[in-house]
Amino acid sequence: MQFTYRSYASMIENLLNRGYQIRNYKNWDDTAKTVILRHDVDYNLKKAVALSEVEKKVCNGGGIYFVLVSTDFYNIHSKESRKAINTILENGGSIGLHFDETQYSIFSEEELKKYVCKEAEILSDIVGTRIEAVSMHRPSANMLDADIRFANIINSYSHIYIKEMKYLSDSRRHWRENVDEIIEQGSFTRLHILTHPFWYSQGVESNLKQTLKEAILNASLEYYDNLNDNFRSLQEEIRRSEIERMIYQ
Ligand SMILES: [Zn+2]
Repeated sequence: MQFTYRSYASMIENLLNRGYQIRNYKNWDDTAKTVILRHDVDYNLKKAVALSEVEKKVCNGGGIYFVLVSTDFYNIHSKESRKAINTILENGGSIGLHFDETQYSIFSEEELKKYVCKEAEILSDIVGTRIEAVSMHRPSANMLDADIRFANIINSYSHIYIKEMKYLSDSRRHWRENVDEIIEQGSFTRLHILTHPFWYSQGVESNLKQTLKEAILNASLEYYDNLNDNFRSLQEEIRRSEIERMIYQ
């Protein structure tokens, strides 16, 4: 499978052709062949919106987008981020909490639960509905082993979703197993597929280094645009085209 929108769309078409129904963390068990489409939004909400557009076209939505509340990469309180979240919802997606335990000094399960609950409340205020599920950002081995149950929110790393379902992930832009083949064969009736929207793009297949490089360079243009919105006459000091030239030279 390639990391393009076209390839992601055909993965979903394959799932539907093989009789899989797209479900969430609550209703996954109400059909014979079920798939959860999970997305961890680590770095960029725009990429999440783009993937939700693909899902809207191919399967009328259904993916679950886990967004970070504590991150240096995006600010969920900004107008643009709130718009992105609304667009994902309009495209038939839903929002979960992506939780980064390293943002806190957590020494006990109680503390972890407290911070997860707090972030879920913040996110639910922004989304306008209750947050049903949480996924851990770069979970520690302890976290994975612990099979932690939260009172009001489903842990997507519960053993039921990781061990009792066939769990496939594109972490570090690498499928450890052949996801297309597994879907083709259809031997697993419960699939839990994790993708990171950050890796996917329009157009031709790229590679890991190129994808990272483009993201880093694009971020400097986004920084310019944000500065331009906040700093009077920025263009008189430095033009966008100058930055572009530096990037693309
Ligand atoms: Zn993550």
